[in-house]
Amino acid sequence: MPIAPRIELATRFACAVIHDDQIGRLPVNPFDVAAIAGISLLPLSQAMQDPGWIPWNLPALMGMTDAVTIAYPVFCIIYRDDVRDPGRLRWVMAHELGHLFMNHFRDFPDQMGPGLRADSGLEAEADMFARNLLAPVPLVDVIRYNRPQQAKAPLFGLSRSAWMRRLDSLAEDRSFITAEMADTVLFSFRSWLLGRRCPSCGLCFEDTADTGCCPSCGCTELEWLLEENPA
Ligand SMILES: [Zn+2]
Ligand SMILES: [Zn+2]
Repeated sequence: MPIAPRIELATRFACAVIHDDQIGRLPVNPFDVAAIAGISLLPLSQAMQDPGWIPWNLPALMGMTDAVTIAYPVFCIIYRDDVRDPGRLRWVMAHELGHLFMNHFRDFPDQMGPGLRADSGLEAEADMFARNLLAPVPLVDVIRYNRPQQAKAPLFGLSRSAWMRRLDSLAEDRSFITAEMADTVLFSFRSWLLGRRCPSCGLCFEDTADTGCCPSCGCTELEWLLEENPA
């Protein structure tokens, strides 16, 4: 009997990480999140140099996925450092962090050994955490509503397929997000979301009062910066 995935918990945990780590701009970097949480990350090329302690089946595992978490002898995430697509690596790292932040290793130790096929419910939970960390619903909603042209996979640093899956799960996740959680996420990204560029005079500024108006020339056709920080 697979474990029923706990969407509410996954969305809440992802929201808490955004708040606690003061993540305030896209793309979200799971390597930073791991570093703040004190989780060790080890590139595969480095792990292979010391084969004395790596799990015997690690090379086979890494043929199937780009990152794997091991609990023994040290807790760490081993990731393929030869992955060329940063979006793919970002996703698998966020997925592995999902297993860790949702305490799968502590609460479901029989499911989580390296090489064991984890319960499909736990896998789904790790995915739910990943998509709500990398592309939180309130942020996706605000950008899609205001800047539909920019609300695409590259802005979130996701592969196209991960972005499509994110869009498919948007309505489901949204039903678990409270107004307080939405406020928390949007507050964290507030200054990044308010970065504007004036197309007339070229001024980049943070429109903190959300006036929609250039303080230098009065132009009201402001562009959202999103990718860059205001100068
Ligand atoms: Zn997994
Ligand atoms: Zn201007």
